[in-house]
Amino acid sequence: MPRPLEALIHVDALHHNLQRARDCAPDARVWAVVKANAYGHGIERAFEGLRAADGFALLDIAEAQRLRKLDWRGPILLLEGVFEARDLEWCSRLGLWHVVHCDEQIDWLAQHKTEWPHRVFLKMNTGMNRLGFTPPAFRSAWARLSALPQVDEVSLMTHFSDADGPRGISQQAALFFTTCADLSGERSLCNSAGTLRHAQDAKVRGDWVRPGIMLYGSSPDYPEHDAAHWGLQATMTLKSQLIAIQHLKAGDTVGYGSRFVADRDMRLGVVACGYADGYPRHAPDGTPLMVDGARVPLIGRVSMDMVTVDLSAAPQARVGSEATLWGHGPQLDGHATELSIDEVARHCGTVGYELMCALSQRVPVSAV
Ligand SMILES: *Cc1c(COP(=O)(O)O)cnc(C)c1O
Repeated sequence: MPRPLEALIHVDALHHNLQRARDCAPDARVWAVVKANAYGHGIERAFEGLRAADGFALLDIAEAQRLRKLDWRGPILLLEGVFEARDLEWCSRLGLWHVVHCDEQIDWLAQHKTEWPHRVFLKMNTGMNRLGFTPPAFRSAWARLSALPQVDEVSLMTHFSDADGPRGISQQAALFFTTCADLSGERSLCNSAGTLRHAQDAKVRGDWVRPGIMLYGSSPDYPEHDAAHWGLQATMTLKSQLIAIQHLKAGDTVGYGSRFVADRDMRLGVVACGYADGYPRHAPDGTPLMVDGARVPLIGRVSMDMVTVDLSAAPQARVGSEATLWGHGPQLDGHATELSIDEVARHCGTVGYELMCALSQRVPVSAV
């Protein structure tokens, strides 16, 4: 028998979450963001659930090639654009649309020989200060791009730094709208948080939304709102089994560094999943897992291949019991059980994004 750890990708949930993005942004088109190997889900598996999207947005030409191999003929957008002039040949060959965020990318396009003019998304830096032209530089970049024979339509985009929080988007959105008021071209502003929280405003919604994390069933503004609040379904389950049980006496310690000290006699379960599988090593005592569908707290430091849990809340648990790191658990008393990736991430001081992206190569993944 292989090691009992596996990840399951819930294809129907991907489809459902994509529909939620559509509901939030009626009559906008949807870029399904599938960068980072579809947030750890695998491009090929994610594609099964997301093929109703209007286009796919990602970073790597190699990932774009994988989508073309799946026979996706629709739009693909490179969210960081090209990294060197030669990448433009791949864009021509694979029919990729690309973001233009700096002068160098315009220089490369001006030198590029192509049969078909390229669709580009010109990016404005409205305060995120990562990629894009500042508002004063944006208009001249637009004019320069629009005049190039290598360029077809120019669309306009920006990215919000605070769509998920109290600062909100109003300053950045106002700067964007003012700067491009009289420029033609489609607009794209919203990531998941923008789509869920701000896309009721048709202007903010624009022509294209760019949801990522919401497609994967994680709430971008957790804990203010959880996935259930937004009607999102978990798309990834990470599950394993108990491979050993220990009986601790008061005063016994657990694992490396003896971080956990038992204050009473207790049963401890050993789960076959560790940081080499992508489970966060810095998970503190009390981080929730499920055993046979019952919530149990992690105790002791996470090691490379194992984590340890307090089985007080799962007295029937034995070697072979199902352990859920996140996602869907087995039925318990006739009810479905679930442990949200956002809740696990919160305990570990991170976000659902990081946990799903960190799933490691050695974990077998299957679509269900
Ligand atoms: C990653 C990314 C997104 C998706 O962000 P989520 O928070 O996952 O929805 C949207 N737009 C750009 C430019 C991105 O890089």
